[in-house]
Amino acid sequence: MIPQDIVHKILDTAQIVDVVGDFVTLKKRGSNYTACCPFHNEKTPSFSVSATKGIYKCFGCGKSGTAVGFVMEHEHMSYTEALKYLAKKYNIEVIEKEETAEEIAKRQRYESLLLVSEFGGRFFQESLDTPEGQAIAMQYFRSRGLQDETIKKYGLGWAPVNRMSLSEAARSAGYKEEFLIETGLSIKYDDGRLVDRFFDRVIFPIHSVSGRVIAFGGRTLKTDKSVAKYVNSPETEIYIKSKSLYGIYFAKSEIAKKDKCILVEGYLDVLSMHQLGITNVVASSGTSLTVDQIRQIHKFTDNITIIYDGDGAGINAALRGIDMILKEGMNVKIVLLPDGQDPDDFARRHTLEEVQNYISANEKDFIGFKTNLLLEQAGNDPLKKAGLINDISDSIANIPDAVIRAMYVRSTAERFEIDENLILDRIGKSRTAMIEAELKQKQREARRVQEPEYVPVPDYDGYEPVFDQVEPEPQMPERSAFEQPYLAPCEKELLQFILSEGCSPLAFDRDSKYYVEGCEMTVAEFIDGILAEDEAEFANSLYRKTYEDFFLFYEEGLTQQQIQQRLLNSQDQEISSVANELLIEKYQITVSNYEKSMTAVTTQLVTYVPKTLLSYQCRKVELLIQQLTAELSTTEDIERQLDILQQISEYNRTRTTLNNELGRV
Ligand SMILES: [Zn+2]
Repeated sequence: MIPQDIVHKILDTAQIVDVVGDFVTLKKRGSNYTACCPFHNEKTPSFSVSATKGIYKCFGCGKSGTAVGFVMEHEHMSYTEALKYLAKKYNIEVIEKEETAEEIAKRQRYESLLLVSEFGGRFFQESLDTPEGQAIAMQYFRSRGLQDETIKKYGLGWAPVNRMSLSEAARSAGYKEEFLIETGLSIKYDDGRLVDRFFDRVIFPIHSVSGRVIAFGGRTLKTDKSVAKYVNSPETEIYIKSKSLYGIYFAKSEIAKKDKCILVEGYLDVLSMHQLGITNVVASSGTSLTVDQIRQIHKFTDNITIIYDGDGAGINAALRGIDMILKEGMNVKIVLLPDGQDPDDFARRHTLEEVQNYISANEKDFIGFKTNLLLEQAGNDPLKKAGLINDISDSIANIPDAVIRAMYVRSTAERFEIDENLILDRIGKSRTAMIEAELKQKQREARRVQEPEYVPVPDYDGYEPVFDQVEPEPQMPERSAFEQPYLAPCEKELLQFILSEGCSPLAFDRDSKYYVEGCEMTVAEFIDGILAEDEAEFANSLYRKTYEDFFLFYEEGLTQQQIQQRLLNSQDQEISSVANELLIEKYQITVSNYEKSMTAVTTQLVTYVPKTLLSYQCRKVELLIQQLTAELSTTEDIERQLDILQQISEYNRTRTTLNNELGRV
């Protein structure tokens, strides 16, 4: 743990031009620096660094961030690693907070588990060289077309037939029984015998993002149906199944460089594709694709191409994956392989060029994929066709970005020659249903936290019951505090004023209703004051969190730029991405606007800040009216109905007043 004051010192000292300049040759152009982007291939520079704003942005691939962000992205470091890197560069001494005894014990335990796991990995690899390993496992790997180089790189191995081999070797090498059992490599019987979980199987080690062996998958070569085809490591402190991706360590830099991740299903799919030369490939192996796995990929790229078997199971898995990927704000394409081949078969039967050509010719976005798939079944049946359009609309509804959603709506409307509004209607309903489902889910989780946690019983045959990790959600969001899509655009705009100009003075004219004699307010104070009058806070939890953090720093007396840097560098990823979206992604537009009318900024603020606040208030009132109207149609109680009607008429008056004011501004 690096103490907060040292973190701030590092962030304040790091100069973006310096930091980026260590990796990229920068050329000065105007007040900025430019270069060819280190994150994507290009011949003309579209990568720009602003020394004054302390940020970089590539207008080609869209990557952007601060000095720390650059180091994280470029060197694939964690936040803490990047901070330490910068501290070293600027000779800032990092005295880490002293760990408590508990923290030390935890860290040592974690490291011990990794060491045992790595011992296991070496043991399986070495067993491959024994006569038994050569005769059975090596022969199998060769029959699957794997070359020695691939076998070595991925650490493939053999778990001997003798069920005591690993446990005995580990104990005589001095590894503790406790950790052998904990990693799942050994199983202790009631009679005290320690036996191996993996025996008589070929072994595929699973690596963490940083390349350490954290778990194993063992495949039997027996055709006997009573033997489980795969045995996997259990979940441990070092291995969380739903967060691990097979091959991520070997693929991550290629994924970043190609700005695309290819997703397949099995170990052999990854190995064959990699061997052929398609190296940006990972597998969700062992589980069906999870949100955490998608987020893991999202750290390296926005683009996923799913390549699954063209059979029913593969198609269904792809369909499930699509909506999850869209929901994470990523782009998804799907490739189906011909006549039931899996990526492993396909890679082995074709050359690199053929596979690449096939992918680029058959890659479809989700609309094309669903259309092709379902239109075949629908034919000319108008009802089925309507069902298909609804199905596609429901997928679009998952996309968090409104602009991208709008793009897909247009393209779907064109493809099916129907009115955009029909699709928008469906999406509106679908998003409302989604938000309600999420709310219910949160309520369920909140309840579940109070119940005793479900601990899976280990099954000695290696079968692992699948269970969801329950992340405790201590606070239950109120209905109104939950993300409110109708209010979010206004909240976003207000937040943008605060993040970009919060510390600027708001100089109202004497005749403005907001003018107060002898009182100078900043943009941030003005907005916060009006919201406080209504006792309101942002409904969108992301915006609210960012807003609250802004004011923490604001009250510390930091400058606008310091606050921006703090938020952009926030350890809370959600806050840093909101700040990034509002400050950097809009950077291009803002810069050109400012250049046009440098002096007009303050005048613009005086007009637009109150205007945005008024439309925000209007929308809130409209929402209340909507909610009351809905209640009116469901309640039977006459008194309550009268009460509601009264409230609605009051809100209607408020709305009229607000609208009139809005018209005057
Ligand atoms: Zn770029």
